[in-house]
Amino acid sequence: MLRKTRIIESFSIDNMIKDLEISEIYNAVKEKTIKISMKTEKGIFTASAPSGSSEGEYEAKTLDNEIIIKNFPEIKKKFIGKREKNVERIIEKIGIEKIGANLSLVLSIAAIKALSKDNIYKFLNKKSNIFPYPLGNVIGGGAHKGYTSIQEFLVLPVRAETVKEAIKINQSIWKDVGKFIKLREISLGNNYEGAWTCKLDDVKSLDLVSHIAENHGARVGIDVAAYEIYKKGKYYYKDTKKKLSPGEQLEFILDLIKTYRLLYVEDPFHEDDFKHFSELTKKARCLIVGDDIFATDSKRLKRGIKKKAGNGIIIKPDQVGSVSRTLNTIEIAKKANYKTIVSHRSRDTTDTFIADLAVATESPIIKCGIHGKERTSKLKRLVQIWNKVKKPEMAKINI
Ligand code: PEP
Ligand code: MG
Repeated sequence: MLRKTRIIESFSIDNMIKDLEISEIYNAVKEKTIKISMKTEKGIFTASAPSGSSEGEYEAKTLDNEIIIKNFPEIKKKFIGKREKNVERIIEKIGIEKIGANLSLVLSIAAIKALSKDNIYKFLNKKSNIFPYPLGNVIGGGAHKGYTSIQEFLVLPVRAETVKEAIKINQSIWKDVGKFIKLREISLGNNYEGAWTCKLDDVKSLDLVSHIAENHGARVGIDVAAYEIYKKGKYYYKDTKKKLSPGEQLEFILDLIKTYRLLYVEDPFHEDDFKHFSELTKKARCLIVGDDIFATDSKRLKRGIKKKAGNGIIIKPDQVGSVSRTLNTIEIAKKANYKTIVSHRSRDTTDTFIADLAVATESPIIKCGIHGKERTSKLKRLVQIWNKVKKPEMAKINI
């Protein structure tokens, strides 16, 4: 009897897809997004598609839900009866952009969830025990709704010794900032990512976050999302009516890094400005991270590596539309000593795939926000994995 069970188990490692269903659910901004349910012998495995508000030019193209739903009966036929491990091969054969990067990604995530029986971190890396620091968004603006031109004012609890402690520190900072702005009646509520928005300009917001973060032993970072404020050669700051040339932008960012001891700066220049990215990387002792400039794309990353543009890369699986493409980019980044920062999207769902991905790839940072169910789902999953692995440890962030 025992022998028979073992044989069945070994066969079921590589199951057939019995059915695929598509539905629509609401994301963090109450817009509809697609969700896939993949039925196999082992159960039903689901994945839902995130999307961004500050989407870069070089991201893989998605399709509208209506088009995907209309095409789905035909697409579905290509997967039913096939093995889970072949899902990505089928996707690549049809073409990611033809399927839509949103559908392609959820198919690919659902397949890996099915293959691993919802234990992706272990499936991708048997030895995984290194945990990322959660990078939390405290005050926001830019394309995420808010007062500031800089999109995100972030905190990193570098002194935390466990994931639980790290999450608690970020939550305390978020709460303290909330108390401060409510007391002064300058709060404008929460934005798409659950960050505070308030009537404080960019520098004052940074000042506030950095002061409170310091009280909690955390370091500070920003996501400028500069592409969103760039127009015809200048960076426009709406609050102070400042407009800066790329050279002036470089000086401004260097000044912020120095004054606020920033540990992390994301997208300080627009997505085609490799030159200023590399100049800043040379001059600053800080994580200089590319999001829109690389778009998780291996070719754009290789170009960046050649030019020494940045020393970190944001990893957003939906920017490339498949798990293997994402893993390939991470591998290239690691070989070149670029820090990988696995990231959510502003219009995210409660899907927890990126938490598993961050642990499996030993990424030192996960950017997934602090407040709201789309953010806490990933944080809870990190704690869940922490409790399952042997000798869990926080990653090392050496710059
Ligand atoms: C980002 O720019 O890093 C981000 C998470 O925002 P969005 O998802 O809107 O691109
Ligand atoms: Mg970004």
